[in-house]
Amino acid sequence: MGNAIERATTEQPTTERPHCIISGSKMKQFLACPTYLYVHPDDLVDDRPKTAAEEGERAHDLAERCFWDGETAFKGCRNKRMMEGARLYAQTLLALSEGVKENVHTEQFVTMGEHFGFFETQFVGGYYDAMVIDESRKLLHCADYKFGFHVVEPTTPQLTFYILALILQRARERYGVMPIWEEEIVAHIREYYGDWHFGQTIVQPKREEPVNTWEPTVDDICDFVRAFCRATMIYQDAGKFDDSTCHTNGYCKYCPKARICAQSAMREDEACAFTFDKEDVK
Ligand code: SF4
Repeated sequence: MGNAIERATTEQPTTERPHCIISGSKMKQFLACPTYLYVHPDDLVDDRPKTAAEEGERAHDLAERCFWDGETAFKGCRNKRMMEGARLYAQTLLALSEGVKENVHTEQFVTMGEHFGFFETQFVGGYYDAMVIDESRKLLHCADYKFGFHVVEPTTPQLTFYILALILQRARERYGVMPIWEEEIVAHIREYYGDWHFGQTIVQPKREEPVNTWEPTVDDICDFVRAFCRATMIYQDAGKFDDSTCHTNGYCKYCPKARICAQSAMREDEACAFTFDKEDVK
């Protein structure tokens, strides 16, 4: 861990991050309610204090620096819990990469909009926390750091989304091919990655079992492609927010459509866990 190496391929400029409409962090809700992502004048504004998000950002930054720079990342840091979590994250990435740091890519931006009929590639995409790309072991393993209490299982489609985005980015940049939509993408995955291994790991220090891994098969990745295409087709066909396509789900309480959607679990329960203010529409 203390073996700092050059981060030549992983540095990102410190400018504001590009925004993707369909991103990994929205994946679970997108698959359940594809059109919830359309902006609507009656959307609710999330006015919850941003303390947790800021803490999560600092924890992520520390964990990433700990992986690359070892204990020197902790200079000036007094948050013991954050340091312990960062060490665990760094150790996990080292173990996943079998000690070959060059095979680990952190905080990379991946996009794939053009493979699903969007004009802009970055309409669909996002940043993954870490990806082990090991050609010799034929391995793609995505890892994600969660510093909060909200339990996230390694089967989350968020990480499958990043694996797929990486596969499609490699299709364009490494293999010079452009598979479009479900069948071509599935065929590409089977042809190029049929004998590869995949992994999804969540490192969540506040959980009793803090490191959890799922190893999706090629079929699981292809199933995700199909589910993603189904949701994308609903999103594109609707062209606007349409609650007839939605299903009540565990994310209703975080949803900006919570009070206008006929399917919302919140409609009958105004005393929800969080308060939102309705945005003033001029
Ligand atoms: S309120 Fe619930 S059902 Fe309606 S769009 Fe949002 S997440 Fe979907």
